[in-house]
Amino acid sequence: RLPAHAVQPGLSPLANVRNLVAVASGKGGVGKSTTAVNLALALAQDGWRAGVLDADIYGPSIPTMLGLSGRPDSPDGKTIEPMRAHGLQAMSIGLLVDADTPMIWRGPMATSALTQLLDSRWDDLDVLVVDLPPGTGDIQLTLAQKIPVAGAVIVTTPQEIATLDARKALRMFEKVNVPVLGLIENMAVHVCSNCGHAEHVFGTGGGERMAAQYGVPLLASLPLDVAIREQSDAGVPIVAAQPASAAAQAYRGAARRL
Ligand code: ADP
Repeated sequence: RLPAHAVQPGLSPLANVRNLVAVASGKGGVGKSTTAVNLALALAQDGWRAGVLDADIYGPSIPTMLGLSGRPDSPDGKTIEPMRAHGLQAMSIGLLVDADTPMIWRGPMATSALTQLLDSRWDDLDVLVVDLPPGTGDIQLTLAQKIPVAGAVIVTTPQEIATLDARKALRMFEKVNVPVLGLIENMAVHVCSNCGHAEHVFGTGGGERMAAQYGVPLLASLPLDVAIREQSDAGVPIVAAQPASAAAQAYRGAARRL
């Protein structure tokens, strides 16, 4: 039932996962992980069996955003069982190491960690949303080249410098023949909670311009909203906590256009 071109049954080589959707960004801090969890939750609210894989090996934030703690089980001592939160299955390197342990790994170690995380014991999933690290490095290439990814969603702020980097991420996926499903513009406008004044902190129209230039859809434009940040920090992302909010509706709108 995932509507469009993105979802082609059987694309994923992971036995129980039908589709992998990668969420990427050119630079860090633009809201990629926030987007990945909320998109996965939006898909789950629409009835998809959804999961989220934190492939941001060097800066895993999905456990915090989903309020996960403790260690995942490994019934056979080899493969790991994903944890569950808010109707999602979730796996992250952050669940396997202490929160303040740095991952001082070169590329091959990081990519082998990614492979192990991918090989978790997922229950049947319609969509696995993969939160990539920022940029265009080893992890992105491993995922794009070794595994048939249904498509990529690129997250950017409207700021020129952010869309410049997002363009590189977009072109990387084009080069490795992963379809770009669309852009999500994040932190587009800030509405003052005191006076209601709307300010375009990172400029206007960046997402729209980039979408038009590359002929990809702008899937959603999210405001800079304190509730989005607070809910992620509290471990209950906005789509789960406030499903009727405008932000949750925007994420569901994006999910339906995949
Ligand atoms: P990235 O994965 O790109 O590094 P994150 O998703 O971790 O970015 O977001 C960076 C910070 O910005 C986090 O503190 C997050 O809660 C906050 N944030 C992300 N999107 C929004 C938003 N739309 N409104 C308010 N805060 C946001």
